[in-house]
Amino acid sequence: MAESTHFYELFQPTHYNVYLDINRATKVIAGTSTITGDAKQTSIAIHQKFMTISAVKADGKDVPFTFDDQSEGIHIDLGKTGETTVAIDFTAPLTDSMMGIYPSYYELNGEKKELIGTQFETTAARQAFPCVDEPEAKATFDLAIKFDEHEGETVISNMPEVKVINGVHYFDTTVRMSSYLIAFAFGEMQSKLTTTKSGVKVGVFSTKAHQPKELDFALDIAKRSIEFYEDFYQTPYPLPHSWQLALPDFSAGAMENWGLVTYREAYLVLDPDNTSFETKQRVATVIAHELAHQWFGDLVTMKWWDDLWLNESFANMMEYVAIDAIEPDWHIWEVFQTSEAPMALQRDATDGVQSVHVQVEDPAEIDALFDGAIVYAKGARMLVMVRALIGDDALRAGLKNYFATHHYGNATGADLWAALGAASGMDVGAIMNSWLEQPGYPVVSAAVGDGKLTITQQQFFVGEGKDAGRQWQVPLNGNYDAVPEILADKSVTLGDYAELRQTNGQPFRLNVGNNSHFIVKYDDTLLQDILANLDGLDAIAQLQLLQDLRLLAEGRQISYAAIVPLLSRFGVSHSTVVNDVLYGVAGNLRKFVTPDSAEEKALRTLFDRLSAKQVDRLGWTPKADESNDDQLTRPFVLNAALYAKNPESIAAAHKLFVANQDNLAGLPASVRVFILANEVENFSDATIFDQLLNDYRKSSDASYKADLAAALPTTGDAALLAKLIGVFEDADTVKPQDLRAWYRGVLNNSKGEQAAWDWIRNDWQWLEDTVGGDMEFTTYITVTTGVFHTPERLAEFKAFFEPKLNTPGLTREITMDTKVIETRVALIEDEKTAVNEAVAQAVK
Ligand SMILES: [Zn+2]
Repeated sequence: MAESTHFYELFQPTHYNVYLDINRATKVIAGTSTITGDAKQTSIAIHQKFMTISAVKADGKDVPFTFDDQSEGIHIDLGKTGETTVAIDFTAPLTDSMMGIYPSYYELNGEKKELIGTQFETTAARQAFPCVDEPEAKATFDLAIKFDEHEGETVISNMPEVKVINGVHYFDTTVRMSSYLIAFAFGEMQSKLTTTKSGVKVGVFSTKAHQPKELDFALDIAKRSIEFYEDFYQTPYPLPHSWQLALPDFSAGAMENWGLVTYREAYLVLDPDNTSFETKQRVATVIAHELAHQWFGDLVTMKWWDDLWLNESFANMMEYVAIDAIEPDWHIWEVFQTSEAPMALQRDATDGVQSVHVQVEDPAEIDALFDGAIVYAKGARMLVMVRALIGDDALRAGLKNYFATHHYGNATGADLWAALGAASGMDVGAIMNSWLEQPGYPVVSAAVGDGKLTITQQQFFVGEGKDAGRQWQVPLNGNYDAVPEILADKSVTLGDYAELRQTNGQPFRLNVGNNSHFIVKYDDTLLQDILANLDGLDAIAQLQLLQDLRLLAEGRQISYAAIVPLLSRFGVSHSTVVNDVLYGVAGNLRKFVTPDSAEEKALRTLFDRLSAKQVDRLGWTPKADESNDDQLTRPFVLNAALYAKNPESIAAAHKLFVANQDNLAGLPASVRVFILANEVENFSDATIFDQLLNDYRKSSDASYKADLAAALPTTGDAALLAKLIGVFEDADTVKPQDLRAWYRGVLNNSKGEQAAWDWIRNDWQWLEDTVGGDMEFTTYITVTTGVFHTPERLAEFKAFFEPKLNTPGLTREITMDTKVIETRVALIEDEKTAVNEAVAQAVK
């Protein structure tokens, strides 16, 4: 990669005075950015993007400047070094890109309204005002905002408003912070406020399109999360307030702007009287994630984007630590096991995946770093390993020290390892660097040979992989005392197996608790021993067993067909995590069958056998006071029953639809999507379809909208599917932030696949123009990859995406995804017959 200079090396800002005049009617932002700092050279550079600059003054005098769009900078000739105040007058467009300063659109009582908000991470603060837009360039900011204001509007920012003069709102000086964490918003808002034990004001803000009660859940979680972190980190929350704001248009999930966190509406506001437990868990973890960042990310920030994982991996672990502490009955770590762990294991098994720590310079490449499976999920698993190794006392002591040393400054991964190492007396860095700097993970094989039990590590691949001889320091968590804490070498022999088995009195197992980032391949002796004692395994161990077997099958180390006969043994479990992995594995079998074939019919029967007893036990309607496990398991079994075309279930769902036709949003939220999908798939006509699509347009209930977006694409009617694709580019119906879910829905329907694929190929340019600037863009490729499984689609995928291989930010995704589809096509080709035979045997 070409050498590039960080602007911070040329000019180090200490304080900003930013004045912004934002006009929604003319869609123009005008302003002045006045930056005081230390010029290290006589020629400096300040970031800007899409701006018109009318004047640049240094210490009050006009100075020459040039533009350079390539580096997104203004180059300024100061003619001096040392302390200088640079004032830049600029104008910029107010666009709908969901980056920089942008409008969100919504309707209130039939009237169209706008709420202006911001999204600056990673490199979009430079679209709002000229600045040294790098995480290391921390400074204090005085923000003054004027806008075409009308009565009833509010403006909020990182810090409290201190005065309003001639329509200009002035905010208190910020603490020393990075530009990407600045935020503000204005428009008509409602809010609910409370105060933490330590006196921090906590608030939840949304448009008035929501009922006031929809703010309550988030307010409670936010308040208790901050109280938890103040205690856990032993470091006070550093600002006077913590606002949470729901924006109707928002590209990511949420953004940790310091003191003003922004969220998708779906991840903040919810109806406390009708929201599924699963959705509540998700909203709570998102809030806890963003609030973890207020210290880890905001108070102490990564020095450069290569250490993005410091922010994200950590927050991704802490969201579970926090929710587990404030809602222990939720068993939230089970969600970690069913979502983050498999996501990380799947993606990290493809050769060409990025490591958690990645060198990066180009802004487009920085956005591509936000790989949910790696920087978030794998990184969080890494930190879970660290936590398990050093324990909470050392973790907390180390963190306290880390915050005290680096607060209002920046840090690298080495700084964190040093702090945790000092607190624990362990060489944390040496252990963790093998995970941080290397892509992939090992499969640890456990085998009995010549009577000896031996364990061996080797990199695990799904698909073709080049074995580079990588080794990891693997925390083994074995259940026999003879197992070392860390496997640092390629292989270790534990001793005589018969003796070990006798002494320990239970089957041999590794990675107990599933907290280390590796999978286990037991030889037949050991696997049969575990399967013979299946009932003695807890739910996490059962999940792990099935998950590892599935991965080994994807990696062609065992046959996929061998897993099929095991499934029925897990179908009786009342545990959510077991049902989650069971139906995940069963769902994977769908790629082996052709639509409307005898094989598909047999597979549907298998689903029916697996789910029937559970459907009887749980029923279609949630009961008061049922266990969390029952609430969370019901969706899996109902979904399976509908796939199975179970007539009683189809009739039961239809009955519920008819009885609630006038208030479908009021159907129990945890089963609503299945009732809607059943109706669309099996009963609906164009009238009902249009009614549901209209509900989607009108509703402000994000979870009901998500259900409709999942249900409508299940129709088998080509004309209705064409109608859906027809609204993909109509932002009044489908907001660009929600389009990916619609696209996936239609693509995933065998009757809509061709039309959806044609749409994305024909309108790729439109898609790039609309959402190309944001960090979620590459996931359109990932979603496509998730569906494709035939040689024809593979060829079409290559023909379309290979010419785009050199597009910055897309290279890795296209390369990896091509490999993923190739691998899947080969697997199906090789194992289809055996898998379908195994299914036929299982349902005989
Ligand atoms: Zn985050």
